[in-house]
Amino acid sequence: MEFTLIDRIRERTAQGRDDVRLGIGDDAALLAVPAGQELAVAIDTLVEGVHFPIGTAAVDIGWKSLAVNLSDLAAMGATPAWALLALTLPSADAALIDGLANGFAQLAQTYRLALVGGDTTRGAFTISVAVHGFVPPGKALRRSGAHVGDAVLVTGTLGDAAAGLKLVQKGSNADARSAFLIERLNRPTPRVAAGLALREHASACIDISDGLLADLGHLCAASNVGAEIETSLLPRSSALLDLFDEEVARDFALSGGDDYELCFTVPGQHVAAVQADLARLGCGATKIGRIVEGGGVSVRDPEGRWLEPARNGWDHFGA
Ligand code: ADP
Ligand code: MG
Repeated sequence: MEFTLIDRIRERTAQGRDDVRLGIGDDAALLAVPAGQELAVAIDTLVEGVHFPIGTAAVDIGWKSLAVNLSDLAAMGATPAWALLALTLPSADAALIDGLANGFAQLAQTYRLALVGGDTTRGAFTISVAVHGFVPPGKALRRSGAHVGDAVLVTGTLGDAAAGLKLVQKGSNADARSAFLIERLNRPTPRVAAGLALREHASACIDISDGLLADLGHLCAASNVGAEIETSLLPRSSALLDLFDEEVARDFALSGGDDYELCFTVPGQHVAAVQADLARLGCGATKIGRIVEGGGVSVRDPEGRWLEPARNGWDHFGA
């Protein structure tokens, strides 16, 4: 690929780190993993029209491409360090590349994360980011550690990104509440500091990319347990509740994707301590249910009735 385009990316993402012995520019980067740390690695790909709506601002796509990856490191309790960026673009569009690099850099700076290499090719608009982080041996959070009796908690609020997507599709972004929800879709906040704090408390953790029920379901399967959650406890933003009916807001919170909050389990006696620790980091954490024997995720409505999945959301059993 044309060197100047790669140069534009390098200029915008420059980050001085001693552990980058050789960054962008050679055939491979040379990186020094700190002694005594494990390397946590993850990769995620965003495809235009699938993972972000066509028309999303380049700066938001750049941000989100890194945010979804940092969310994976957060869910492991790892400290972000380095990233690789593979860009596939229909044309060598300097303005698009600058926007992507700027959005990426805004988030990278927060974590002193260095972009150390990548690839640039021509084709349908796709952006792949791989991240590398550090975690002390044996300290990483996993999906597999939940025990019967543990409490189930989530950070932040749920359903905002699904609401934001609906608003983008409807073309309504005029007021502050819509703007907030669309921002939650386009610029998710990876819960990196929360993930690090959870190393002291959590028995299991996963980030919510595909919706609470799907991702908590993965955690339960990995841990060989079930979960019971209460819809009355789901944390939801006032913007979501103001702009959408209760049923729709509930379905977004249960099944909507792209929130990038953390869902984790802690022994019951840790709930207050973990909430206090995360509150100090400016991150809310809400208990939404508990781990039970068996498998799968069961959902109870405010009247105590069990819900089951329906074609357009969630229905009462037999109702
Ligand atoms: P090669 O053909 O040897 O793989 P490239 O010409 O693809 O090298 O890349 C040259 C340098 O620029 C490499 O260090 C590579 O990691 C970096 N690079 C290429 N594309 C990107 C990108 N989109 N973001 C960051 N670095 C990139
Ligand atoms: Mg080469």
